[in-house]
Formats: sequence, structure tokens, C-alpha cells
Amino acid sequence: MRRLFSAQTPPAELLIRGAHLLDPRGGIDAPGDVLVSGGTIAALGPPGSLAAPPGGESIDGAGRHVFPAFVDPHVHLRVPGEEHKEDLHSGTRAAAAGGFGAVIAMPNTRPTIDNTAVLGSLREAAMREARVPVGFMAAISPGLAGDRLTEMVELRGAGAAAFTDDGRPVISAGLLRRALQYQRLCGGVLALHEEDPSLSGAGAMHEGEVSALLGIAGIPSISESTMVARDAAIAAHEGGRLHMQHLSARESVEAVAAAKAAGVAVTAEVSPHHLSLTDDDVRGLDTRAKMNPPLRTESDRTALVDGLRSGTIDCVATDHAPHAREDKDVPFEQAAMGTIGLETAFAALNTTLVRPGLLGLSALIERMTAGARVFDLEVPTIAVGAQANLCLVDLDAAWRVGEAGYESRSENCCFGGRLLHGRVLLTIAAGGVAYRQRAFAVGAA
Ligand SMILES: [Zn+2]
Ligand SMILES: [Zn+2]
Repeated sequence: MRRLFSAQTPPAELLIRGAHLLDPRGGIDAPGDVLVSGGTIAALGPPGSLAAPPGGESIDGAGRHVFPAFVDPHVHLRVPGEEHKEDLHSGTRAAAAGGFGAVIAMPNTRPTIDNTAVLGSLREAAMREARVPVGFMAAISPGLAGDRLTEMVELRGAGAAAFTDDGRPVISAGLLRRALQYQRLCGGVLALHEEDPSLSGAGAMHEGEVSALLGIAGIPSISESTMVARDAAIAAHEGGRLHMQHLSARESVEAVAAAKAAGVAVTAEVSPHHLSLTDDDVRGLDTRAKMNPPLRTESDRTALVDGLRSGTIDCVATDHAPHAREDKDVPFEQAAMGTIGLETAFAALNTTLVRPGLLGLSALIERMTAGARVFDLEVPTIAVGAQANLCLVDLDAAWRVGEAGYESRSENCCFGGRLLHGRVLLTIAAGGVAYRQRAFAVGAA
């Protein structure tokens, strides 16, 4: 069953010469040549050992890195219904610009992806418009209303990548239990936005010292962590697979660690913004730093970094959430929640985690591709015979976020204006060139 869909692109014919090849799963970490022919990795060799394919281009990789293309299991592409914020074309262009070779889109669209007709039309649209392969999650409950289940078996049979009510929690424990029973029947994973609305209420940022100082209603960490613990307990009882989305709080990391230690089939993701920023970054009331779950404290951020390093947290996911200007150019408390993140994910984490020595580069690459493993998709790899899913990156190139605009249709990026290190120069997805950085000269050897 196919679960990723994209437009056909001409198969890449090119040689990348002398880049540092890094594929943690494949055990590759050395300089070398990569020959891509017919969209497939045709040969790997020591630097200078391979020739460009006839009529193909030769790219100087010296001083640059080649990674397996990243996989983002959590993006909002706003299709159908909010194409003024993003669409399949602009969203997958942003993905490719960030080095992503595949993304999974959330179903909180208008209408909701909660039936096979909507899912089917999205599959077809992706086969026309998507620059990198896109998977679509289907809703757990119709309209995300949380009162009954969608036709999960049918949706899974129609290619749903997984199930989620993201944007909202599954409040009813009974409904989650039944969803787990169906998940075991039809496969896939239940991905959960963990939040207890009776605790988060009308909060606009993390509940703590900074929110008290600013006089803004807060969202306490327990709003997330109590739901993580509850749902892990339900999965422990019922069986089935849960994936905890966008962890933000130290207590949530502890709850996931405890569930894993007890043998529960639970996985977790964390976003680049929760790994890089804290509620300190909200002091200026910049609405780009408003998202749900909110940026929390330095202690939370440290726990998330530790969790990612130890493997308690399986993968990085951007929660790319485009918003129109009029939804963000309002007072902080009224602003929409969310930040775009596809174009900045690698650079943000390279800058805040790898360069200061908090996380190894190969660990970061593993966690940025592991979303594929969590959702049973093929994990991109640098290996002869594999379909080419690669990105070429200059780790040292510095750039100011937003200075040259965004590939996304929206501009609400929490890293906007920051200086980041690490630039994606070229992305090959599903065998075709999906992105080439504007200033990146290619061609002549
Ligand atoms: Zn969410
Ligand atoms: Zn989301």
C-alpha cells in the first residue's frame, strides 16, 4: 500500500564529488563521491573516483555534507481549505528547501481529512503538485469532534499514513481506548496532541515566572504531561501503538521514559523550536513565538535535548504551522498559535545543539530521519541501489532567517531574524531534484 504521494519529477542524473557522506544507520561517515543515475544511487566511491553520468551534472561537494533526506512526520499544509496560508506546492517547496525528502500532513483542514473522499482527492492533488512525497494522516474522530471514531479501517485501506486529531487532544479516554482497538486491527499509529483543555484553558504561553511577570494567562506543563501519562496507561492496558506529538515539558519526557521502560509501544517527537527556545523568548510578545504547546523553561528545554539524545524522544518533527499575516499581526493573546519550521529545522538544531556540542551531528541526522521509522515508511539511506533521497548541506554557511524571504506562503517563523548556521544547497527526493538553493552555482566541474 502506497502511503506517500508526489508529482513525477525527471530522475536525477548527477555526481556529487568529494562531499562528506554521513548516514548514521548505514554506518557511513567519510568523504566520498555519490553517483545518482536514473534517480537511483548508482555508485559510491572514494573522492575523485567516479565520473559524472553522460549528460549529467557534476557538483563540487568539497567542504560540504551529504545526508539522507530528512523526514518530517508532522506538518500542516492547510489543504484543503486554507490555501492562502499554504498549499501542497508551497509547503513541499518549503520542505525541500529544508532538506526534507518526505513529510506527513495533519488532517485538521477544512474540511477535515476524515473520510476516503477527501483523502482520495488529496492523494490525487499531491500526485500533481507535491515536490516531495507527502503522506496524509486521517482524523481519529469526524471533524475532530472527539465523540466517535472515523472509519479507520477504510481510511487506512485508502492510504492514510496514520491517525490523529492534532490541533486537539482526544479528551475521551473511552474513545482513545476504542481507537487503539481499531489501530491494532488496521495498523498505523495513533499520533496524539496531548493537552487537557481544563488545565490549558485560555492560556497563551507557558505558565511560569515569565507569564506571571507579563500578566498573561498560562498553560501549565501538567496540561500536557498528565495526558501523556494517562494515554500511556491506556495503551499499556489495551495494546496498540501511540505516538506523542510535539513534547514540550520535562514531566512529559519523564512520562514517556517511564512508559517505554514498562514496555509500552509508545514513540515521541519534539520540535526544533522547543529544543532551541524558551519562554524567555516570549518576553518581547513577538507573536511568532506563540505556539501550542508553548515554549517552556530552560529546564524543560534541557530535558527535551537529553530525551532526544538518549532516544526517549525518537524523532524531530517541525509542526510546521503556517498562518496568515492578519492572524499574527494582532496582540499576543489574540494571535493564532503556530510557527512555520520546515526551512529552518536543520539550521536551528545545527546552531543550537550540534555546534555547541550538546548533540552529535550523526545523532541529529538519525533523529531527523527517524520519523520514517516511527510511521513505517522507508527510511532514506545512502546506499547503492537505493532511490536517491539526499540533501547536500553547507554546515558553516551563515544566513539570517527571512532575509531572503521564505519558500512557504506564510512568514510566521519563530526563528525570523536570527542568524543560523547550516544551509541546504540541494535536495533530491524520490529520485528527482526537488530543490536547489538560489545562490548555489551548479554545473561545470
Ligand atoms: Zn498539536
Ligand atoms: Zn500540529
